[in-house]
Amino acid sequence: MLLKNALIWYREQILRGHILVNEETGLIERISLSKIIGTGSDNLEINLKGKLVIPSMVDIHSHLRDFEESHKETYETGALAAAAGGFTTVFDMPNKLNPINSPESLTKAVERAKRIQWAKIIPYVLLNRDTESSLISNYPYLKAYRGITTGNYLTSISEIKEFLIRSSGILVVHCEDNARISENLKKFQKTLENHWKIRDSQTELLAIKNLLESTKDIATRAKLHIAHVTLIESIKILHSRSVSFEVTPHHLFLNNDDFSQLGVKGKMNPPLRSKVEQHYLLEAFLKGQIRIISTDHAPHTIHEKKDLELSGVPGLETCLPLLFNFCNPIDKRKLALIINALAQNPRSLMNLSEKGIIAVNEPANLTVIDLKKRKVVRGDDLKTKCKWSPWEGIELQGWPVLTIREGKITYNDL
Ligand SMILES: [Zn+2]
Repeated sequence: MLLKNALIWYREQILRGHILVNEETGLIERISLSKIIGTGSDNLEINLKGKLVIPSMVDIHSHLRDFEESHKETYETGALAAAAGGFTTVFDMPNKLNPINSPESLTKAVERAKRIQWAKIIPYVLLNRDTESSLISNYPYLKAYRGITTGNYLTSISEIKEFLIRSSGILVVHCEDNARISENLKKFQKTLENHWKIRDSQTELLAIKNLLESTKDIATRAKLHIAHVTLIESIKILHSRSVSFEVTPHHLFLNNDDFSQLGVKGKMNPPLRSKVEQHYLLEAFLKGQIRIISTDHAPHTIHEKKDLELSGVPGLETCLPLLFNFCNPIDKRKLALIINALAQNPRSLMNLSEKGIIAVNEPANLTVIDLKKRKVVRGDDLKTKCKWSPWEGIELQGWPVLTIREGKITYNDL
């Protein structure tokens, strides 16, 4: 497959050229910055007419549901949404109705993921008191919950310590202090309007400080990574301790003021913060202080959102358009920030063998962006089964139009 006349993110530069992809090996075979290459008659030629080719994205935090919750999302629809969003790999969270915390449930998820071609799906294992011991020692990707959220699972500090002692894997921690949430519930009625007060900034800060303090003396080969950080104060603390973290697009691009209009469509854990906090987060991103962005794609049906006020919003398909819209017109420095946060740093954190760069003999995992394309976000147009978005009705500029995973096209809107 020959991708002709592209703008290629190549060695930290934006260069005009052509990429020859070997569909059989799934690798990039040649890159030419001058003359057109590989014009063999059996090549599929795609003229990109100056569109931008970047390494594909990896989302380390999605909830692809399936199994007992296939009415919300399945691995198939979740992977289609990922491909449409420019992602080729998605890590799936384990807080399902029947959680992934035993070899049997893990095998079931892995087997199902193998049948999906639109994206590579890698399941996490839940760390709690019921997690099977062999998984704590041997499985590389675990998730802990320090505050109750969808699924009602909780992880104690002693379980986290045990993981750090025995594992060389990575533990992603949802940091909201559960005692603080319970305290706040005594002060505030459990209403939609009070959601951000019940899970206030202190809820996040306390959980992070407590986690860092109680694990600081443990010598470990394992890594801690903090999920969906929402505060500049959290970022400062985590930077000072060299602990990795991620920020979501909804905390970067929405705030409390949007909540009055969004209602339950703006409800997630941790909640949206103030406009000032949002501004600090965007500033931190532009300064290169946010090294990983994850979507926390958490689909519920719109009826469940309205009737049960469940927390979580879908985000796989709007993540890149939001970032490109924000960074438009694109420059080299901003493009590097996006690619680092969504392609290179997630791969390196998760120890994936591919580097997330465009180079000969690297896997052809590529996302093509049409920087000029303007499109209004419409729930009905989305591939996610839940078919709604907190950005419904908003026009964004800069959309993925072609996604290639290991040399095969997984999404094509050229
Ligand atoms: Zn989540």
